[in-house]
Amino acid sequence: MSKNTPNRRRAALTTGALATAAVAALALSPVAAFAATPANVAQNGGAARSIDDSTQLLLDSVEAGPAKNVILLIGDGMGDSEITSARNYAYGAGGSLPGIDALPLTGQYTTYSVYKDGANKGKPDYVPDSAATGSAWATGTKTYDNAISVDVDGVPQDTLIEIAKANGKKTGNVSTAELQDATPAVQAAHVAARSCYGPDSVTQCGADALDQGGLGSISEQIIGTRADLTLGGGATSFGQTARAGQWQGDTLFAQAQDRGYQVVRDAAGLDGLTAADQTQPVLGTFTDGNFPTRYAATTATVGGADLAPQTCQPNPARLSTGLSLQSLTEKSIDLLDTGDQGFFLQVEGASIDKRDHSADACGQIGEVLDLDEAVQSALAFAEADGNTMVIVTADHAHTSQIVDSTPPATLSTALTTVDGTTMKIAYGTAAAGGSQQHTGTQLRVAGYGPGAANVVGLIDQTDNFFTIVNALQLDRDLDGLSADATISAPTEVAPGSEFTISTAGLAGDRQVTGTLDVDGTTTDLGIADVVDGVATYTVTAPTEPGSYTITLTGTQSGTTLSATVAVVVGAVTPAPTTPPAAAPADGASAGGAGTAGSGRGPLAFTGSDALPALLLALMLAGTGAALVLRRRHRATSAQDGVQL
Ligand SMILES: [Zn+2]
Repeated sequence: MSKNTPNRRRAALTTGALATAAVAALALSPVAAFAATPANVAQNGGAARSIDDSTQLLLDSVEAGPAKNVILLIGDGMGDSEITSARNYAYGAGGSLPGIDALPLTGQYTTYSVYKDGANKGKPDYVPDSAATGSAWATGTKTYDNAISVDVDGVPQDTLIEIAKANGKKTGNVSTAELQDATPAVQAAHVAARSCYGPDSVTQCGADALDQGGLGSISEQIIGTRADLTLGGGATSFGQTARAGQWQGDTLFAQAQDRGYQVVRDAAGLDGLTAADQTQPVLGTFTDGNFPTRYAATTATVGGADLAPQTCQPNPARLSTGLSLQSLTEKSIDLLDTGDQGFFLQVEGASIDKRDHSADACGQIGEVLDLDEAVQSALAFAEADGNTMVIVTADHAHTSQIVDSTPPATLSTALTTVDGTTMKIAYGTAAAGGSQQHTGTQLRVAGYGPGAANVVGLIDQTDNFFTIVNALQLDRDLDGLSADATISAPTEVAPGSEFTISTAGLAGDRQVTGTLDVDGTTTDLGIADVVDGVATYTVTAPTEPGSYTITLTGTQSGTTLSATVAVVVGAVTPAPTTPPAAAPADGASAGGAGTAGSGRGPLAFTGSDALPALLLALMLAGTGAALVLRRRHRATSAQDGVQL
């Protein structure tokens, strides 16, 4: 037997080797082009992955941060068993997943959650769900199963997307699940129960609903968090109608457009996007619920692994390749990698978990392969960029096990792998028709790029939060990021003239509320979105001379800014201005007075909704003042002048 095996297949440890693996993989078509398994794994060294001394290669892969960009890829329910079965099936036991297996630095992390209440409150719950685990890496705080980025006491915890955005990073959130599903939700929402999907989730949302004084459903909070791009499924919830707040009576899709979003629903719409930023963020929902899987289901049965082994078949319902997880990842990177600011992008392959719950071996394997292709694209970008950290991991382990013989009483399936042999997969945590359970084992976490050495060894899921915060050098004091905000307003305006009041430097806030003070009576002016630190209200001055105070308050930080405007006959009113810090794309001006190039409504301004407007009208009626709040409505450029 030769010691000099030609089949040295150690996962790439150098950037050059990484590039080779990633680029080569990009050319592969989904099913046919999986690498053949090595023919000689039985010979001495034939199955080895690290025959040569790898010390230098490993040292070369360790690079200190900071990193400009971070891409976090999550395989939901992707434990070691799910990775191994996908590798066995598609590349052979001696082969390599060209994405997942190419990351040079690997550790393991613990995933347990904590109990919400009772005598064990705050103590470890050994088997977590996707809500607790996602919240853990999104916020750095362990919490209870069912929690979406709130702690064990229900207190909202700042998320990576919120923090990265406040620090001027671009942000993206991609999933093959409904966007309201736990893993995407943890980056954009804070609710006590993960099933609080939309305005119609009345019971599930409870006190979190807008009409109960809460922050709103997950879908409504996604719009308000305003990542630069959010792509996935879950259109159904965005088709629901808001029951309270400024957009009461509008669907969430209409609300998103009114707030400046580019709303896309299909591959052509996604392909046509040329920008995704705070001025014109992207909300892409391509299915009503979760994405269809890559492979048709092979549901396990009792004794199933004794039946003839199967091969996985394409799922006819799978979305077009333009909407594969790999395509979404590549498009996201293109849209986020636009300048010096850098970005944070989370990408989830969601249905590894969902198919595992359904004891569907081909379903889960296909989703691992889909994620692997997305990882290949992320690595190819990171390798070319040289300043991007990539982390690939999962949220919790799952049921499927690769077994040697058919279990007598539990579900199983036999598949023929690319090795030409039979792989038996068993599901033993629920009966037929039931939902297979998550499991509590630690998980693989793999990294590449500046700062990635922090994944090595045994870490906890919450470490991912700190690793990413540190790599991107994020300031977590969001209130402090709004502390130096300023307000600008004319001191004098002519009666009936139009002018703007704007704030700048509210980086730690996502919304502002405005109030108008007239003769000691305070009235709500509604909510405005903060766009790149700027929020603007466009108002028409009262016709009655006098002194009017407008106060703007950062919703998240509580930062309060006031300006007093005197309405004086004969005053020269400054023209409405474009906010200074906005970064419009495609030449469109931003802010309250601006118009988006697409013809959609502008972004910073929002007037009041019907109820406060009416209230304001009633209150001002007695003063004889006439303050007109201008509100642009949805995609039309028509302005609803609200005479107050
Ligand atoms: Zn699950």
